[in-house]
Amino acid sequence: MLLRTTAVCTVLTLALAGLSAQAKDGTYTAVTQGRNGDVTVNVTITNDKIKSVTLGDWSETHPIADLPAKLLPENIVKYQTTNVDIVSGATLTSFAIKAGVIDCLKQAGLDPKNFAKPMPKAPVSAEKVTESADIVVIGAGGAGLSAAVAAAQQGKHVIVIEKTHFAGGNTSVAGGCYNASAPDIEAKQDMSASRRALIDGILAETPRNELHKSLIEKVKAQMAEYDAKKGKHLFDSPELHALQTWKAGDYQGNLELVYKLTQEAPAMQKELASMGFKWKDYTEQVVGALWPRSNRALNYKSGVGYIDTFLAEIDGKKLPVTFRMQTRATDLIVRDGRVVGVRAKGDDGKTYEITGKSGVVLTTGGFSASVEMRQHYDTIWDKKLDDKVMTTNVPGITGDGIKMAEKVGADLIQMGYIQLLPTTDPYTGATNHAVSLTTGIYLNKDGKRFVNEMGRRDELAKAALAQPDHKFFVLATSDANMIDKEGRNQYGIKVADLIAQKKVFKADTWDELAQKAGINPVNMKKTIEEWVAFCKNPVNDPFGRPSCDPGVRLDGKSPYYATVFTPSVHHTMGGVKINVKAQVLDAKGKVIPGLYAAGEVTGGIHGTNRVGCNAVPDALVFGRIAGLSASGK
Ligand code: ADP
Repeated sequence: MLLRTTAVCTVLTLALAGLSAQAKDGTYTAVTQGRNGDVTVNVTITNDKIKSVTLGDWSETHPIADLPAKLLPENIVKYQTTNVDIVSGATLTSFAIKAGVIDCLKQAGLDPKNFAKPMPKAPVSAEKVTESADIVVIGAGGAGLSAAVAAAQQGKHVIVIEKTHFAGGNTSVAGGCYNASAPDIEAKQDMSASRRALIDGILAETPRNELHKSLIEKVKAQMAEYDAKKGKHLFDSPELHALQTWKAGDYQGNLELVYKLTQEAPAMQKELASMGFKWKDYTEQVVGALWPRSNRALNYKSGVGYIDTFLAEIDGKKLPVTFRMQTRATDLIVRDGRVVGVRAKGDDGKTYEITGKSGVVLTTGGFSASVEMRQHYDTIWDKKLDDKVMTTNVPGITGDGIKMAEKVGADLIQMGYIQLLPTTDPYTGATNHAVSLTTGIYLNKDGKRFVNEMGRRDELAKAALAQPDHKFFVLATSDANMIDKEGRNQYGIKVADLIAQKKVFKADTWDELAQKAGINPVNMKKTIEEWVAFCKNPVNDPFGRPSCDPGVRLDGKSPYYATVFTPSVHHTMGGVKINVKAQVLDAKGKVIPGLYAAGEVTGGIHGTNRVGCNAVPDALVFGRIAGLSASGK
């Protein structure tokens, strides 16, 4: 239930009144529960009318919550009803706003039933709209915006169509980490003996094809140079990144595409910097990233920084990009064997036919939010990805582009490979509730570790699903956590809200923490002691963990924290087959003229298991390639 029945309701200007004929004028406040935490709603009542609705402090997700924050208060005041349309895709936030207003009406002594008439329906238009541009981009996520900017920089007029009310897709809610080999930044870190052993293992493999052989040889030469200089810092190169990525997907990805991704990721990183994106000057190793080459934004808590950067570039440079929001692509238009445009349906009821003289770029993301598709295609999880398994994805990620491309003859590849992210919110499936690094040790409720937390995501998720209730905990101390001075976690959510929601537990002693979180206290303390000992001398971990980085130590001061996690569907590795120019291929391997694709809608890059933090560079690099290819570059 969205409204906390024990909500703190404060009348700011006048005393509370019971339900009566005449309400007391004044401003009333209610606190309700949104998707991420508390939502504060202020309602001013004048002469029995709702004079204004404003929203106070909250931690709902930008940009998803931006539209409901504006639209619902406007409509509630305009139509004097709480029965206003919600913003689909932002349901919990919308209901929290409505519930807050209803609560305030009651506080004012007004009967909410008198503010419940339906909002007038906007007239449905049957109009058909025809538009044309040089290039049409379908889907305004990371890949789509990267493509649009690249094409517009070539002087092409681009129309971007997007089915939801916000630009950003999953890219905007993702953690936003970005793998790129950046030796100058990574040089601040040491190369441990176990990391060196990982490289030696990769270089000792028998080459599986010519490209594999040449990458191994290149890294061997790079390592010889590193050794000659007596290097002690962390080693990295696009070639090592490619070899690790390919191996982590069980050699099922297309190595040519993998190498393109790892070669171009550093250049795309610089391109973003030139657009004003600020990078942190250190890297980390995020869950399943397998090497500490994960870059992050300095001033953004999630992937929304990429979206804001592209939008600012379009705006600031007045690039020729037009957006058609709340417009869902339904079919690709093919003329004389060439994809020339798209048919779409607007939320306004209008039908659109939008053509692109130079090409159509498909960037609609994967299909993690389609239970039907993931159940149909899954080959990894024994068809258990039903509606009881949540997803980290925004609701619009339902495989639309894959279906559209399939209808025009595109080859679909590796559709059965679906990734579960082990570290998600057990109540929403989101990735935004952690208060510490999610590479800290994982404990089941028996208080025991069960896996090498620095391993592959598929292995972590399988191990987590084998634990009681499919849940596990990550512990933190007051010295090693990611809580800022204002008491918010790295996604800007108030930790007090997360504690109230029982997603995070906090206590002054380990015993008290174990009791609050429901973990076996004796085993938990033994596990902590063993971990503290390992961190002093990180060798021979029973699960094969290669390191203990400062952010995951447990020898710090109290208060202590435990965050509860469960795996949720995160990424679909399969999709539309492309070549290195992001051109879409048919079943015979031939290019489908006019059709390009990039990002999660494509398949065959990551293989069975996507490396953590490779998704954003994949989307942005191939988005840029698609935009340039469609521009004739
Ligand atoms: P990627 O990381 O590959 O860029 P995202 O999830 O970030 O993927 O973005 C995909 C975008 O495509 C989302 O904004 C989503 O709403 C949009 N989208 C999905 N299906 C359609 C469709 N049928 N028409 C228009 N936009 C779509």
